[in-house]
Amino acid sequence: MTQRTVLVINSGSSSIKYQLVDPDSGSSLASGLVERIGEEAGAIVHKVAGQRTELDQPVPDHGTGLAEVLRLFEDKGPSLAEAHVVAVGHRVVQGGRHFSGPALIDDEVVTLITELVPLGPLHNPAHLKGIEVARRLLADVPHVAVFDTAFFQDLPEEAARYALDREVADRYSIRRYGAHGTSHQYVSEQVSRLLGREDLRQVVLHLGNGASASAVVAGHAVETSMGLTPLEGLVMGGRTGDIDPAAVFHLARVAGMTVDEIDNLFNRGSGMKGLAGDNDMREVWRRVDDGEQEARDAMDIYLHRLTKYVGAYTAVMGGLDALTFTAGIGENDARLRRELCGRLGFLGIRLDDTLNETRSSQARVVSAPQSPVTVLVVPTNEELAIARQALTLL
Ligand code: ADP
Repeated sequence: MTQRTVLVINSGSSSIKYQLVDPDSGSSLASGLVERIGEEAGAIVHKVAGQRTELDQPVPDHGTGLAEVLRLFEDKGPSLAEAHVVAVGHRVVQGGRHFSGPALIDDEVVTLITELVPLGPLHNPAHLKGIEVARRLLADVPHVAVFDTAFFQDLPEEAARYALDREVADRYSIRRYGAHGTSHQYVSEQVSRLLGREDLRQVVLHLGNGASASAVVAGHAVETSMGLTPLEGLVMGGRTGDIDPAAVFHLARVAGMTVDEIDNLFNRGSGMKGLAGDNDMREVWRRVDDGEQEARDAMDIYLHRLTKYVGAYTAVMGGLDALTFTAGIGENDARLRRELCGRLGFLGIRLDDTLNETRSSQARVVSAPQSPVTVLVVPTNEELAIARQALTLL
């Protein structure tokens, strides 16, 4: 079969992340990042086969940024024409109730993503910019939107609906949409394949700077920790996760904070950053080892929240067959995995310490053979998942 590739684009408010993916072999042919779009000093990094090109130059807007990226592909390779790009896959965070799978982008899909801006105010406007410039600059291939929420579209109503006045909730589309769905779907499918079982009751912990948990039964998501927005759920790098919404009323009334200030505090100035002053777990562990109580407390709050979620999801599913760690922290932080599994000892979970400590980029089991719950580490690959989902529509 001749090679075919998909260009995957994740457009942020001031950045464009991209990767050229071979969906058949799963390999990445090139990747890069345009940063600080619209600021005085921009930067573009393009990586191909171990060669890294860095341009420090202002990037006034997304269109200029993507045009520079296309030029880098021509100059530094691989040539997009020779790589047979068959589609462009766009990551879109909020698909609301419109999208339960990938969508071929046409003007109507753009309108629907635009309608969802109020539900994804931090992300969807930036995705729309990326889609607009990419459709213009790469006009001869189909563009596909892949939604972070799609995997959670068929959450049972009891998990998706808040106990909020029904009429208000429905009028303003307030329900639990989830996020990181592309990763939860990809990872849970890998686990099924690796263990050779379709009927698994799984918990997937996607622990990166953003963090979420999902409960998956026989391939279908039945619970997830992110809600109306990615704020709900686990303790994250800079987000509170679960917090009594009355804290918002209190800060508005007593501290005189505006809604935007509270939004910023909860989404950026909280989580590990707010608790320990740092959102990089390696740094927090270093400070735990230095005997800093604040750092230890932050870790305990992080672990306590995870323990509650795994326990709750086990109850929801009536048992647990596989517990999987993924993303930056999940894949790399053996100590965190060990401490969490220690707290989950009541489930009979037994890690194999050697397997847990062994660094690898492969999907792997890290529990002992007698553990009734199989514990795994599965590297997520959202770009590959987006590329493969895009292909399903061609
Ligand atoms: P995102 O994609 O959400 O920005 P990642 O999945 O890349 O985040 O995860 C980034 C986080 O992974 C970092 O903030 C850091 O806390 C954590 N991390 C990366 N490597 C390690 C490691 N070796 N040990 C512990 N944590 C790590």
